[in-house]
Amino acid sequence: MDDLKNLVRTIPDYPKPGILFRDATTLFGHAQGFKAAVAQLTEPYRTQRIDAVAAIEARGFIIGGAVADRLGCGFVPIRKRGKLPWRTLSQEYALEYGTDVVEVHTDAIGQGARILIVDDLIATGGTAEAAVKLIRRSGGEVAGAAFLIDLPELGGVARLKSLGIAPHALMAFEGH
Ligand code: AMP
Repeated sequence: MDDLKNLVRTIPDYPKPGILFRDATTLFGHAQGFKAAVAQLTEPYRTQRIDAVAAIEARGFIIGGAVADRLGCGFVPIRKRGKLPWRTLSQEYALEYGTDVVEVHTDAIGQGARILIVDDLIATGGTAEAAVKLIRRSGGEVAGAAFLIDLPELGGVARLKSLGIAPHALMAFEGH
């Protein structure tokens, strides 16, 4: 676990002063690290019925596709507003300043489909909560949520637990 943590690069004051940006691209670029991270993210779900991985643009796609392949299930992209070509459901969520919107295709998730959410990092959990709402509004069931990195001080894991989801994260970093 420490080995994987050491592969994440920390960039101070990006994208703005006071933020410690946890850059997973250095882990993605490391063959053994990437393979181990995908295997560990997948592990808790190997014995469960998962119909699709729903991953969040953009870094979530990198690991989400690999996890879906390992589980032998489908992949559903959750994208920022205006990127998906077919009819969509939209979900607004709060940012530190202002709001943003994520979308999913209206026909991507069938009634009762068991969906695993995947993203690189959970901070406040606002993005993941928007994904939960899109999946539930589509008729799907959130079977779990898997992240490489948790920032516990920002409360995202607690927020998902309050929605009845048990998140899985491979590592945690202090601070924001
Ligand atoms: P949140 O909605 O607050 O849980 O933020 C999660 C999203 O923002 C994820 O898609 C992350 O990629 C990105 N993010 C938030 N904080 C950081 C950080 N300190 N380092 C890297 N990415 C971050």
